[in-house]
Amino acid sequence: MDLELSPEDAAFRAEAREWLAAHVPGERLPSLETAEGFAAHRAWERTLAAGRWSVVSWPLEYGGRGASLLRRLLFEEEYYAAGAPGRVSQNGISLLAPTLLRHGTAEQRARVLPPMASGDVVWAQAWSEPEAGSDLAALRSTARRDTGGWLLSGQKTWSSRAAFADRAFGLFRSHPGADRPHQGLTYAMFPLDAPGVTVRPLGRLDGRPGFAELFLDEVFVPDEDVIGEPGEGWRVAMSTAGDERGLTLRSPGRFTAAAHRLADLWRERAAADPGGGDPCGGDPCGAGGGLRDRVADALIRARAYQLFAYTRATGPAGARPAGGGSTGARPAGGGSTAGGSTGAEASLTKVFWSELDLALHETALDLLGPYGELSDTAPDAPAGGGWADGYTFALAGPIYAGTNEIQRDIIAERLLGLPKGRRG
Ligand SMILES: Cc1cc2nc3c(=O)[nH]c(=O)nc-3n(C[C@H](O)[C@H](O)[C@H](O)COP(=O)(O)OP(=O)(O)OC[C@H]3O[C@@H](n4cnc5c(N)ncnc54)[C@H](O)[C@@H]3O)c2cc1C
Repeated sequence: MDLELSPEDAAFRAEAREWLAAHVPGERLPSLETAEGFAAHRAWERTLAAGRWSVVSWPLEYGGRGASLLRRLLFEEEYYAAGAPGRVSQNGISLLAPTLLRHGTAEQRARVLPPMASGDVVWAQAWSEPEAGSDLAALRSTARRDTGGWLLSGQKTWSSRAAFADRAFGLFRSHPGADRPHQGLTYAMFPLDAPGVTVRPLGRLDGRPGFAELFLDEVFVPDEDVIGEPGEGWRVAMSTAGDERGLTLRSPGRFTAAAHRLADLWRERAAADPGGGDPCGGDPCGAGGGLRDRVADALIRARAYQLFAYTRATGPAGARPAGGGSTGARPAGGGSTAGGSTGAEASLTKVFWSELDLALHETALDLLGPYGELSDTAPDAPAGGGWADGYTFALAGPIYAGTNEIQRDIIAERLLGLPKGRRG
């Protein structure tokens, strides 16, 4: 494997770095889990789009640069290294967009993708239900045939961003007589302000409305808003799930940037302790203690993830041509899973990044001691409360995008060929 970038890729990286240096807000934006923060993050998406940096690997006609998967990874490294804001549009650009590029119609792509790229329409994912999380096929919400479309009814929960977002995509039971629970499901898009939709915000650990429950009562969606064939929604949804677990949602740039910030934090703490005292609560950070090893371990794991992603992006699967939306086609970069991190392999990636995120943040909090617990509302919070906020979010990593218990089952059965567990 050649680790040297081509002059063209290096120039792309330099251009991204320069633009980010000129445009990333000097101050941390307010939390996107508040109305004010959501608006500020949406405005940032518009700035990104104006510079054509919001969706670099999408085709030009939808607002992208047609960049390769490798360049997408390079851009994200620069993005997070620059301390740029979290992406309020991520459910749309990382989950729905690649699904539309593979399974949507040309009309859907032309209609949905540009306003998603510009931040004008922010999307939420409406999959989970009170009785259907890990066992998604147990979902009960329905789609009933109506003239020219479908009537959606039921309850969805844990829908991130839905408290302030514009539209959502979800799965509905449309053919109740189907033989198996995975059959007879329909994948549809709907507006969150449509008649019949009630959005009830749910608080996160910090009390902010990071999620919402959605109650749907005969919400009309036209046929144009169904993705794939009615009744075939499971197959389409599994394509979205691969993107959610794989490199598309959590590419390595986020973790390499956090690991380098962690190393800087460790250096600061060690420098503040020239006498080899005890600034880190019994675990001397300056003198070869366990914390130093944990920082090194996080750096190594982030680097390993980065190299894995480069391998995927530059290998044969990553170099496939742009998809025209036909089933199974993988668009070059159009939110592809960075070269084939699909199915069981995406589960491997998911367990890796979620555990890395948690280890990184736990180490940071141990280095900071009691100060690490201060949130962004406290004037003395280190890094503006970023470590504390990152920690509470990292706690959810082993749960969202499919719990790690389930991912380990998939890895055991489908990658390692081990016998099925005791579940039904
Ligand atoms: C931060 C965050 C954001 C989220 N965002 C969204 C979103 O935007 N849209 C959305 O639709 N959903 C979202 N979710 C919901 C998420 O997808 C579900 O929480 C997840 O799929 C688990 O489902 P559950 O909560 O119903 O847990 P359950 O399925 O009830 O699982 C409970 C526990 O039992 C374990 N378990 C269950 N079945 C098995 C089994 N067969 N073998 C071994 N262990 C098992 C699970 O691993 C878990 O530890 C989000 C969740 C979080 C935490």
